[in-house]
Amino acid sequence: MEKDPFKPLKIISECPVCHERRSAPQVQFINDCPEGNLLYVQCANCASRLVVLVSFVPGGMNLLGVLTDLESNEIKKFSERGPLKADDVLELHQALGQKDFIKKLTE
Ligand SMILES: [Zn+2]
Repeated sequence: MEKDPFKPLKIISECPVCHERRSAPQVQFINDCPEGNLLYVQCANCASRLVVLVSFVPGGMNLLGVLTDLESNEIKKFSERGPLKADDVLELHQALGQKDFIKKLTE
């Protein structure tokens, strides 16, 4: 029996939410980062969205997917922003202490 070389790709073609396999998902390349390539995958059936990190390792590849409610442009924006720094956390802590914090969020 011949081994199917595309079997790993079929695993990610099944939606983790509705388990749809017949409709090909929309796949969008977001960017490459030191950890691998970041993809945005949207189910054609239920519109669930995944952010998938694809990284190649000796002897194969790793896929790490997370369900998201973000749009692809938001994923791109946050992935290019870089990791949080201590100053970011301090800034948030100070903002949370302000009385009009919620009002500023909606402006
Ligand atoms: Zn689905």
